[in-house]
Amino acid sequence: MSAGLRRRTLLAAGGAAAAVAACSPPAAAPLPPAVWVGARHERGHRLRSAATLPTAAVQRRAAVLVVGAGIAGLAAARGYLQRGVQDLHLLELEDAAGGNSRGHQLGGMACPLGAHYLPVPADDGPAREVAAWLHQIGLLKREHGRTVADERHLCHSPQERLFIDGAWVEGLLPPVDPGSPAAAQLQRFAQAVVELQRGGRGARGEPAFALPAHRSAWGPAQAELERTTFAQWLAAQGLTDERLRWYLDYCCRDDYGAGTETVSAWAGVHYFASRHGFHAPGGDGSDADDREAVFTWPEGNAWMVQRLAAPFADRLHTGRTVLRVTEGRHDVQVLAWDESRQQLEAWTAPQVVLALPLFIAARVLESPPSALREAAKGLAYAPWLVANLQLDAPLLDRVGAPPSWDNVVYGSRGLGYVDAMHQGLRPVPGATVLTVYHALPRSERAVLLADDPRPWAERVLAELRGAHPDIDRRVQRIALMRWGHAMAIPAPGVQRHPSLQALRGARGRVRYAHADLAGCSLFEEAFIAGCEAALP
Ligand SMILES: Cc1cc2nc3c(=O)[nH]c(=O)nc-3n(C[C@H](O)[C@H](O)[C@H](O)COP(=O)(O)OP(=O)(O)OC[C@H]3O[C@@H](n4cnc5c(N)ncnc54)[C@H](O)[C@@H]3O)c2cc1C
Repeated sequence: MSAGLRRRTLLAAGGAAAAVAACSPPAAAPLPPAVWVGARHERGHRLRSAATLPTAAVQRRAAVLVVGAGIAGLAAARGYLQRGVQDLHLLELEDAAGGNSRGHQLGGMACPLGAHYLPVPADDGPAREVAAWLHQIGLLKREHGRTVADERHLCHSPQERLFIDGAWVEGLLPPVDPGSPAAAQLQRFAQAVVELQRGGRGARGEPAFALPAHRSAWGPAQAELERTTFAQWLAAQGLTDERLRWYLDYCCRDDYGAGTETVSAWAGVHYFASRHGFHAPGGDGSDADDREAVFTWPEGNAWMVQRLAAPFADRLHTGRTVLRVTEGRHDVQVLAWDESRQQLEAWTAPQVVLALPLFIAARVLESPPSALREAAKGLAYAPWLVANLQLDAPLLDRVGAPPSWDNVVYGSRGLGYVDAMHQGLRPVPGATVLTVYHALPRSERAVLLADDPRPWAERVLAELRGAHPDIDRRVQRIALMRWGHAMAIPAPGVQRHPSLQALRGARGRVRYAHADLAGCSLFEEAFIAGCEAALP
């Protein structure tokens, strides 16, 4: 969820901690109204009973059909449009495009339902397609020979803070005393990342750790990292400091939906060596600007979805649950359930892009190729809970760093919250929406589908009460979004798995585009998977 870090030395505020510890949270008030929002699980579950289907009420043809209008599907559709294909249509199960990057409104305020930021990519870096699109929509510009980002869409300061030892501190890296063994471990981890970056370049100059991941170099060093979990690798390096380990675990849960015990060492290092950085306090670069540049919006990445979807207008068919895809000799037939008219549509197209999570693609495709069956079986997905809390007024200011865009509680099971109004330009803080993120263990998926949202709302509030004793008084309403299969987990062996590589390279009538192809879920992965699927 959060951006990475560039931190100056941070020291715990001892006196401040004592002051806050003296004020303990009051008894919990009655729970405010809590509702589930955002996903039509019954539509997805329709796939389970799709063995016998009625006769199609509508027959349609298209030159290209894109199934799924998440970031990957929208980027694929854009790619075909750029190649001059006008007769293309998108079929999307939900009532809006965007998938995991959709947004919501609460009390008249925009807020995210899922993804909410994008680090600013380099023009000539591995995510060049993303940079090119950002230039096209004006978020990046060339000025006096260099690229600059539109300040209005960059995360405003202050960006991140951590609640630890009873006070808020700037940044998310737990503070350490200079010269302590903990500080030495931070330095050693930073050094290890730099050495792996420098030492692992490919023969043709590929970066050791690129985003998208498939543009990274791959040699014995990377393969070795991919064989173990990040936790095992850290232990082998003697990196055992509790606070460092919490921070690294937090980062993995935040970007990958699972912690250091689950993700591969390659994925753990990739987080810091590609998308984010790791700058230990007092180390090289500690004097640099400590704000990592990220784009963000009140409604999260739904802002970008709106721009991506705009060219398609009536070619984007929402409320269409694709139930079956059959590859014929010359065409592909796609059967979609029109949710508003409650009737079946039969589409035919010579080219179909399945921009779906791979386990769904494997279910809808009548005869899935072995690579797809294998990939669907091999990927594990993390469930997520996103709770939007509508506040009638700002929370009481506590000791330490001021309210920031991203606010995290040390040691919490949750991933903290972002403030949807942080990007607003109003002079005085007022009512707002806090978006709280929880990446859950897979064992909690079934409970997440329970009818009653209140136990989840209570859990979300309980995690915040220590840092915000007045939260119960301020929350008016809680809108909860549950993602049963939110994102593929980059466990050992996922990166460079032959089945994923085969699907990425598929050039037949059925192609694949989804962040799943990377074995992890990030905007850049989804966007570039879509761009590549649309290549001739
Ligand atoms: C809670 C959360 C927070 C995140 N935060 C960030 C973030 O801040 N930054 C970031 O870069 N990434 C973030 N991500 C990752 C995010 O998943 C990616 O950025 C990106 O949105 C993935 O896009 P996609 O197109 O690959 O997949 P999806 O979003 O999964 O898109 C697939 C689409 O297919 C549709 N579909 C499924 N089944 C059918 C069917 N049978 N018929 C028709 N349509 C169907 C779905 O409704 C969906 O629209 C987050 C993810 C989650 C879950």
